Formats: sequence, structure tokens, C-alpha cells
Amino acid sequence: MIKAVLFDMDGVLYDSMPSHVRAWHETMSQAGVSSSPEDFYLFEGRTGQSTINILFNRSFGKDATPEEIEALYAKKAQRFTELEHPGSKPMPGAREVLEKVKAAGIQRIIVTGSGQHSLIDKLDKNYPDFFDKDLMVTAYDVRHGKPHPEPYRMGLLKGNILPEEALVIENAPLGVESGRAAGIYTIAVNTGPLPDRVLWEAGANALYPSMLALAKHIAAYFH
Ligand code: CA
Repeated sequence: MIKAVLFDMDGVLYDSMPSHVRAWHETMSQAGVSSSPEDFYLFEGRTGQSTINILFNRSFGKDATPEEIEALYAKKAQRFTELEHPGSKPMPGAREVLEKVKAAGIQRIIVTGSGQHSLIDKLDKNYPDFFDKDLMVTAYDVRHGKPHPEPYRMGLLKGNILPEEALVIENAPLGVESGRAAGIYTIAVNTGPLPDRVLWEAGANALYPSMLALAKHIAAYFH
């Protein structure tokens, strides 16, 4: 019996990945660090520090300093905010999925690597009455980003539920890995440009091409 659905945020509840990718790619290019837009879809879910260090190692053969990481992450966050002005677009179909989960009496838990301070306000505005601020895992709650299982384990802990009582909804390969590593049935929704194969290889238990498509089938997973 399913008691909670754990929702990733960017690329699942919000159509915000194109802006994240553009903000990352521009910021790193201006800093003389080479990357491709596809890198950021593959890194999605990692902490900012982990993303920056992978690219620094590729370009310069060493980690970035804590000061470099802080400055680059701040710049990326600022650029993302500019690109998303006046606010992120809700993902088509996400509301329908949330309505079905709520109507079945199942908890909704957010598990995101994002550290935006405006997160709760944003969810309140776009998805009022679906989320409880005590049932959210953000960058501030965990030491490890995805693909580590810690974010989803923390979600289970906050909801006081077992892995077999939960479902994960994820769009990113590393997010799928994280959900599976926490022992949870993980539904992938391929809302980005990566091939489906990448999500299957990450361990997805099921895969849909959009949140609209998932909304038609989500109720079948509740028991
Ligand atoms: Ca995501």
C-alpha cells in the first residue's frame, strides 16, 4: 500500500531545466571552463559543488577552491533567476498527477537538490495545498546530493514511511539512481533531451514521456 509519493522538483513539477542548463553553461563558459549543455542534463541532481568540481577536473585537472565554488554557484543562481523571471513555468500535467495523489489520501513529499530560498513561496503560489513545509528535503537537509540515496532516505524519514510504501517521480538519471539506491520504486518521466535508454540504465522501474502521460496511469501504482 503506497503512503507517499516523493516528487523531484526541476523537470518534474517545473519546466525549469532549460533555464538551469543555460545558466550553468553560460556561467562556466565565461569562467573559461569547457562544458556542453548535455553535461548539465547528465549532472542534474548533483550539488553545485559536485558539478563545478567535475568540470574543473576535466578542464584543469583539479578541484575548484571553496571561493571559486561559492562565486560560480552564486553567478549561476543569479543568471537562473534572470532567465526564469517572473517565475518558473509549472510542468504540464504535474497538477493532474498531484490531484490524483492527493485524492487517494497519499502524502506528497518534495525531494530536491535545489537550495533556492524562495522554494516554499514558489510551491505555495503554483501548487497551493499540495505540500507541507515539514515534508520537504532540500539542499540544506543533506550532505550528499543525488545519486547518493541520502536525499530520498531523508524523504522517507520525514514522512515516517518505509521504502516499499513510497514511489519516486524523477526526470534525471542521477535522480533515478538515488531513488533506486534508497530502495524505492522509481518512475522516470523523460521531460528533457536525453534518450530514454539513459533513464532505463539508471534503473528506472517505469518510464513515461511526460507528466501528462503519467497522470493517466499514476493511480495504477497506488496499491
Ligand atoms: Ca529533476
